[in-house]
Amino acid sequence: MRSWVPGANEPGCDFPLNNLPYGVFSRAGEAPRCGVAIGDYVLDLAGLEADGHLKVADAPVFDAPYWNEFMEMGAEAWALLRKELVALLQEGSEHRASATEYIILLSEVVLHLPVLVSEFTDFYASRHHATNVGTMFRGTENALQPNWLHIPIGYNGRASSVVVSGTNVRRPWGQLRGEDGPQFGPSARFDYELELGAIVGSPTEGPVTVAEADAAIFGYVLLNDWSARDIQAWEYQPLGPFQAKATATTISPWIVTAEALAGFRKSVPEREVTVLPYLEEPHATLIDIELEVDLERDGVTALTRTNYAEMYWSSAQQLAHHTTSGCAMTPGDVLGSGTVSGPTREARGSMLELSWGGKEPFETHAGPRSFIEDGDTIVLRGHAQGDGFRIGFGECRGTLLPALDDPYVRPK
Ligand code: CA
Repeated sequence: MRSWVPGANEPGCDFPLNNLPYGVFSRAGEAPRCGVAIGDYVLDLAGLEADGHLKVADAPVFDAPYWNEFMEMGAEAWALLRKELVALLQEGSEHRASATEYIILLSEVVLHLPVLVSEFTDFYASRHHATNVGTMFRGTENALQPNWLHIPIGYNGRASSVVVSGTNVRRPWGQLRGEDGPQFGPSARFDYELELGAIVGSPTEGPVTVAEADAAIFGYVLLNDWSARDIQAWEYQPLGPFQAKATATTISPWIVTAEALAGFRKSVPEREVTVLPYLEEPHATLIDIELEVDLERDGVTALTRTNYAEMYWSSAQQLAHHTTSGCAMTPGDVLGSGTVSGPTREARGSMLELSWGGKEPFETHAGPRSFIEDGDTIVLRGHAQGDGFRIGFGECRGTLLPALDDPYVRPK
């Protein structure tokens, strides 16, 4: 598929006509509103709608700082909008002259959180990651706990900690294990976790099947679940992560729709033990998405190279499991996949794994690293590779700021 918008037909472009990811943008002095990325531009959907070139409901939907209202309209509306956008943006479109007024260079806009995050749940679904972390925390014998192959393990996180790409993250203070008892101080083992975030678009009530869960997912974003490993190691038993994961979770600004990724589906790996019927995969629910993490400082150092299809549990299985309790899911729910680690060293999705708990520091352009240093910028990228095009996610970026001297000193 070719578009008349400059940049969209370049083979390395993240945002060709096949993609059409949804975001929220603003220009200086203007309110944030909904747009779609195409080539080097964002198409202003609020503007198109206001001037009568686009109509999806009786009242305006896109003159809003979030996509939640549109997501609530349901899957038929999602498919219809995508069709209309293709008609507007494809090469030879009869609407080109009018639509040209509504494209704005991406370099001229600020991007915001694309959804009002209603809840955030994070999972633990890469067998390689769970085995690596389990080995470091509990030894080889107890690496993978007895429930892991049967149940998608997760915890309820905090919506308030989810921030958009480009937001700086402050190194947290916390309670740490010390030689003479616990101490309170800045985390010395601050880390990233490479994940994919699934955005729930349709509400659920009561338990849903994996197929229903899959259909309720509106799209996906890149997600960096910043993690304080020293806080985590002290606090995680018996109830799991808490303050170690609550500093920030960064997501990429463009929601790549499930529909754009439909041609890249892959089945979950073969089950080692039979899973209960409610968790069986009805069709391929993973996605072939190449993922990478770089450290940008004094040059670019590759940290992680992996693929989302390495996961043992898919987002649809996680969502289905999430609803077994009767827990209602709402549009704007974000489900973190869990760290996406693969079988090789370069496929490890966190510094904890790359430096093996700090025991094996590795070289970067900015010097040796075991964990993230103040001033380091961590960048996640991802794309599904098509024949001559790619469905890209853009960037998920964050820079670590130094800890405060004393977090309890109040400004006068
Ligand atoms: Ca995580």
